[in-house]
Amino acid sequence: MILIDGSYGEGGGQILRTSLALSLVTGKPFTISNIRAGRKKPGLMRQHLTAVNAAAEIGKAAIQGNRIGSQAFTFEPETIKPGNYHFAIGSAGSCTLVFQTILPALIVADGPSEIVLEGGTHNPYAPPFDFLEKAFLPVIKRMGPRVDAVLEKPGFYPAGGGRFKVTINPTKLNSIDLLDRGKTVRKIASAVVANLPVKIAHREIKVIKEKLEWNREELRTVEVENSQGPGNILTIEIESEYITEVFTGFGERGVSAEKVANRTAKSVREYLAYDVPVGRYLADQLLIPMAMAGGGKFRTLSPTKHTRTNIDIIKEFLDVDIDMQEYGQNEWEIDIKSA
Ligand code: AMP
Repeated sequence: MILIDGSYGEGGGQILRTSLALSLVTGKPFTISNIRAGRKKPGLMRQHLTAVNAAAEIGKAAIQGNRIGSQAFTFEPETIKPGNYHFAIGSAGSCTLVFQTILPALIVADGPSEIVLEGGTHNPYAPPFDFLEKAFLPVIKRMGPRVDAVLEKPGFYPAGGGRFKVTINPTKLNSIDLLDRGKTVRKIASAVVANLPVKIAHREIKVIKEKLEWNREELRTVEVENSQGPGNILTIEIESEYITEVFTGFGERGVSAEKVANRTAKSVREYLAYDVPVGRYLADQLLIPMAMAGGGKFRTLSPTKHTRTNIDIIKEFLDVDIDMQEYGQNEWEIDIKSA
């Protein structure tokens, strides 16, 4: 039985999701304690509980301690059962994070799957749907599996009510290297509002125009009609020759549209200033599939605490060496090899 301390390193939900994902993939049982000890409201929240229960269903797992607020549980999977699943969080909790938990097992399962997820699709502190679709899944597809996601309805925090569908056709995972970004081929900033004045989106776009000096055809505002609650996000997509990255700003009550846009512009400028293909969020998310493939390399900005913590949790389940080298100021290479 692998023992995981949920308060380790970054101390958040990712430790729990990585453990569930890799327990399913390897068939190794684990016990986790001090769940999300580093967060304001520790223990399993609804979104985490949905991830635990989804993993248990897919892995026919025996499980103890899966309750809201629980700070420890034990998970013993039996198999990986591909098929059709529907997981609803029942709150605005992020369903992209539930997806992050179950995807690794389903891309190496012995049959295809179709998953419907309901809850928040565009939540702060989680991968927004557009990031999954345009940045993360294209890399997974390059490794072999066919994974297609369709957003049926957006769900913004705090109302939620979003829904997306994913079809997964597994294959053996090939290792890939992401060392160069190549030239920028297309860039687009989309300021999206749902049930809020479109002026918010115009203000965000004005800041992006000034800060990034982009042309009119690279800037757009979108009014979403089919959202249950209000929402505002600013999505900036940088398509380069060899990779696409997505940067997101989340509108919040009490934070001006200008501030949201300035923060997002800052992360885009940082990415464009360095010669790396992989941004900070994609970095922590590529570690699991690359470790499962038994190898891979990528270049990225200085690693976050999420990335460092994820590396240590992955090593609890898989026999891999993951080496990080800084080869330029704020430019790092992460190299994953079978041990
Ligand atoms: P945790 O904070 O432990 O629940 O983990 C959050 C996860 O969401 C990590 O895998 C992050 O890479 C990911 N994430 C957070 N914000 C974003 C964002 N704006 N774009 C893409 N991924 C994100």
